[in-house]
This record gives sequence, structure tokens and C-alpha cells, in this order.
Amino acid sequence: MNELKLGDVTITRIEEMHGPVMPTDQFFPDLPAEAWQEHRASLVPDHLGAEDAVVHGAFQTWLLRSEGRVILIDTGIGNDKTLPGAAFWDHLQLDYLGNLAAAGVRPEDVDLVVNTHLHVDHVGWNTRLADGAWVPTFPNAAYLMPKADFEYFDPTNNPAIAGGLNENVFEASVAPVHAAGQVRLWERGHTIDANLRLEAAPGHTPGSSVIKLESGGDRALFAGDILHTPLQLMHPDHSSCFCQDAAEARTTRRRLLGWAADEGALVLPAHFSGHSALEIESRGGAFAVKGWAPITRY
Ligand SMILES: [Zn+2]
Repeated sequence: MNELKLGDVTITRIEEMHGPVMPTDQFFPDLPAEAWQEHRASLVPDHLGAEDAVVHGAFQTWLLRSEGRVILIDTGIGNDKTLPGAAFWDHLQLDYLGNLAAAGVRPEDVDLVVNTHLHVDHVGWNTRLADGAWVPTFPNAAYLMPKADFEYFDPTNNPAIAGGLNENVFEASVAPVHAAGQVRLWERGHTIDANLRLEAAPGHTPGSSVIKLESGGDRALFAGDILHTPLQLMHPDHSSCFCQDAAEARTTRRRLLGWAADEGALVLPAHFSGHSALEIESRGGAFAVKGWAPITRY
């Protein structure tokens, strides 16, 4: 199944890549090895290596068609990027735009890009290299970005960004879109259309956000980076090493997963590989997987 239909919204997954990401004890410093062991059978192979203790994940875009518009949620890592803070993703050459084309979308067809936050792996395809300069990949799109992240990750506001994970990211993947007049900043919340609404979900980054879908009785939560592995459903108090404010990330995670469990909303995280959308339920002060919605990828 290449598409999910929820209410009046069609959902497709465009993958940039998937596979091993990082050892469990580095990715989740506080999550005990026993927890990974206990749930190993349900995590291998999509979320955990079969032969090792390495978290697996995907880098991908949720492609939505809603009210006649083509909407992309997050844009991966991108090609040709110089990434001193994320050397493993430096100068990628992947056929992301080919995958998008296979789903029937040309760059000029995209009406709206939503960056849930401005980390390196969510803004990459905002731009592409053309004659040595970074230009917006989607020339006709407005790009919605959280104002708190736009300010935080601008190295002229925050010199510490140079030397970290996001070094050179604002310059290559955010500023050129802003210079082209295509950035729309929002804070607190933002209504995209009658089906979709952006909501602040701070913690992972200051401006992190999620998109709630409510249409024709169906509900979904495009969860961004409020969680990075299904194990965080069973252990929702544990944040990743990439969560800037671990305590705030925990509060946000519990609030939004609670909403999804109560509302029966399909949860679509940014980085789950395999069957990457799931229904969840509350269980014993935490959460559990109720079922996966198989959605294949382009
Ligand atoms: Zn991410």
C-alpha cells in the first residue's frame, strides 16, 4: 500500500534512506540495555540491528495531499551538503527527488514545506546546489518554520551552533530559502488548512513541532522527533542524546502520545523505518504498540 487515506487527506512516504543510525547506549544514554533486550524481538530488524545494539531508523518525508495542495513534512538531509558536525551525512548523493517523482510530484508541484524543526536531518532538501549556489528545491512552495528554531539555529544569534551537529545547516538549507522570500515563521500554533494544524512541541529543540490531522473522524499525529524508537513508547521518560532539553522533551512526549492514545490517532514519527506508522494505547503508565499501518515507501 503506497498511500493512506485519512479523512480528506492522502498520505505517502518518500524515503531518503534507512538503516543503522547509532549505538543504543549513545543514542539513548539513560535507557538501560535490559530494556532493549526485553523488547528486542519486536524491534529487530526495522528499529534495531539483528546482530548488534545499533538503532535503525529512516530519513524521510511525509507527503500529504490536502485541500488540493501538495505538502511535504520534513526534507531529510539533502545532497552535496558540507556537514562538519554530521560527517556521516557529508556530501550525500541520494535519489530523493527521483523517489518524489515516482510518487508523481515534481519540485515545482509542491505548495507547502513544513520543517517540524530545523535540525540537519529535517531541512536538507529545502535547498539544492545549482551552479555552485544553494537555491530552494521547491520554487513555488512556502516553507513553514518554527520561529523559535529559526532564531536559535541562526549562528549570528547563537555562535555555539558552529562546532555542533547543525554546523553549516542554517547557511545552506535555511538562509537561502529566507533570502528567496519563501519562509513563513510561526509560533505557538498554526492552522495549515481545515485538516491540518501545527502545534508547538518543544524539548527536542526549542521550536520543535508536530502536525495534528483531524479530518472526517480520522486523527493522526505527525510526531516529528518527539520519539526516535518504538522503545520510547514503553519508556516515555527517556529522551535521545539529540534532545536539547530532556525534561521538556519528556513532558511533550507524554502529552502528545497521551493525546494520540486517547484519540485513536495514527502516529507517524519522522524516523521510524519499516512499517513507520502505528496506533498506540496507554498501558501501565506508559504506552504500547497497538498495531502498525503498513505504508510502503517511494
Ligand atoms: Zn531528526
